[in-house]
Amino acid sequence: MIPSILPTYNRAPLNFVKGEGCWLVERDGRRFLDLGAGIAVNALGHAHPALVRALNEQAGALWHTSNLYHVDKQQVLADRLIDLTFADTAFFTNSGTEACELAVKMARKYWHEKGQSDRMTILTFEGSFHGRSSAAIAASGSEKMTAGFGPLLPGFRTLPFGDHEAFAEAIKAPDVGAVLIEPVQGEGGIRTLNDACLKGMRAACDETGALLILDEVQCGMGRTGKLFAHEWAGIEPDIMMVAKGIGGGFPLGAVLATEDAASGMTAGTHGSTYGGNPLGCAVALAVLDVVADPAFLDEVNRKAGALRQGLEGLVAIHPDVFTGVRGEGLMLGLKCKCPNSDVVQAGYAEDLLVVPAAENVVRLLPPLNITDEEISEALVRLDRTASRALAS
Ligand SMILES: *Cc1c(COP(=O)(O)O)cnc(C)c1O
Repeated sequence: MIPSILPTYNRAPLNFVKGEGCWLVERDGRRFLDLGAGIAVNALGHAHPALVRALNEQAGALWHTSNLYHVDKQQVLADRLIDLTFADTAFFTNSGTEACELAVKMARKYWHEKGQSDRMTILTFEGSFHGRSSAAIAASGSEKMTAGFGPLLPGFRTLPFGDHEAFAEAIKAPDVGAVLIEPVQGEGGIRTLNDACLKGMRAACDETGALLILDEVQCGMGRTGKLFAHEWAGIEPDIMMVAKGIGGGFPLGAVLATEDAASGMTAGTHGSTYGGNPLGCAVALAVLDVVADPAFLDEVNRKAGALRQGLEGLVAIHPDVFTGVRGEGLMLGLKCKCPNSDVVQAGYAEDLLVVPAAENVVRLLPPLNITDEEISEALVRLDRTASRALAS
């Protein structure tokens, strides 16, 4: 008999009933140290007082009116994001997948309006993840996500990750209108595109006119130690997808774009019933108040350094379990020698949550406000987790 919840997930036998900062309480009372943060969503941990306050205050005033009317908090949030980034305009969604849908539509409409509908091809990369909609799975090009769901949305060309020559060749094709890439791949195994590579892509896009679309759904919102990961390379995209951390746990996403890139998206060309609702925008403003503060980002970088150094130590002590550390800021991966699922399982037994990724990596995506004591505790539990994984 089919389970009452569609069985598309292999769930761990864990059921959390309460969250506090970096800690999750299981129904049986065990306290788990959460280094997954709901897959990089709970940027400020669980039940952050400022977020709870923002949500409660908004809940008492107004939940939803629709985008038929002005939404004050949505306007304030858009202006705030525009102040903080390259963007001239923002559209709010409920998820990263929806942000991907709009980014793809925006790029195609851009070329259509220019009378060059033939430039509908978007270059994407192996190992990428942009969501589970028809456009997003076609963009990732991964057999695992697309098998059985054909016919796939046409107009994507998947390139090998980190192959400069393949990219330099592909970008010259006359049908290419945009490039879609994660500055740091999340699901793909915490693979960082180096700064030179991102700069080279920007330059190539400038040369051909192709739009550079960055998917910062996982690596954005302070995760790498800058508000957005592309800032490390000193470049700016034309379009950027945001979600996960921006709502701190409330479902919210956004597409940010330059005036030029967004020029095709006129009244009636896109919409969302819930996107940019007062509740989500109120929480996102509270998240931004904390995360966009340069002093907070300095702390993220300092803590990331401490965690990374500790992880390098664990790799040295457990060479049969871990072979290396990768990633940026508090978006870190441990490449495993044993199956990464053994490490995830051993973590559960040590009351520790880590998240698997491709390339046999386990991801560490702790709340950005993790304390020094919690980092020390995380390293102690990871040490025990490694010993247990090896014994299993
Ligand atoms: C999670 C993720 C998405 C999809 O976001 P959803 O909110 O699950 O729809 C897209 N891109 C990246 C890089 C992601 O990590």
